[in-house]
Amino acid sequence: MSGVTLSNVQKRFGAVEVIHGVDLTVDDGEFVVFVGPSGCGKSTLLRMIAGLEDISGGEISIGGTTVNDVEPADRGIAMVFQSYALYPHMTVEQNLSFGLRMNGKPRDDIARRVTKAASILQIEPLLARRPKQLSGGQRQRVAIGRAIVREPDVFLFDEPLSNLDAELRVQMRVEIARLHKELGTTMIYVTHDQTEAMTLADKIVVLRDGRVEQVGAPLDLYDDPANRFVAGFVGSPR
Ligand code: ADP
Ligand code: MG
Repeated sequence: MSGVTLSNVQKRFGAVEVIHGVDLTVDDGEFVVFVGPSGCGKSTLLRMIAGLEDISGGEISIGGTTVNDVEPADRGIAMVFQSYALYPHMTVEQNLSFGLRMNGKPRDDIARRVTKAASILQIEPLLARRPKQLSGGQRQRVAIGRAIVREPDVFLFDEPLSNLDAELRVQMRVEIARLHKELGTTMIYVTHDQTEAMTLADKIVVLRDGRVEQVGAPLDLYDDPANRFVAGFVGSPR
């Protein structure tokens, strides 16, 4: 397990700066939720933490080690996206094990990890199926399973439930809370769903135009939002 620290992190695309110096501490084992309007930089921040996007300034550290120059695969991170691109021609079991096989992990280690992930997500009966034989919720479970088998120090979620219908979203939110409780791993989770933010987060980070507007525990933000903008993201009366 590991915490994540951002120090004066900046991002420019060409001449346009979109992240303007973000400072943030995510404690070891903490569940931190990023909220903010579309385009405020949530995905860009996650992608920089994952190493999928270079940082233009500042420093990111994971588990106390600067990772600015560390390859994505070596950061101890697994990311879950909203579009879960499963391999259609592979079974669920093969989808779960593919990345591990590519990394040359030993067979018995792969089997152990797949069994454990399938058990955590309660998808054991689905292991022989192909993605087209799964429901949307089951597919999203497999996508999360692909992150779990990597046994990361940090999970990053970018709006993982926004393609699901309302009922399934509630069900998966409960599953993600259980996953965090069971694994105790650091998680950073992007959502625009107030209920997800309020119920999942140990700490909410409200972002606005590439800056941190306010950080706090859900109830603290709810009780004492810095302004109307923050109130709009934590469900306080306005
Ligand atoms: P969010 O996830 O909060 O909706 P993003 O992180 O996707 O926001 O985007 C933040 C800003 O950076 C937006 O203004 C977006 O247009 C811009 N942006 C994101 N990716 C790129 C890119 N590859 N090239 C240029 N601009 C980008
Ligand atoms: Mg985004």
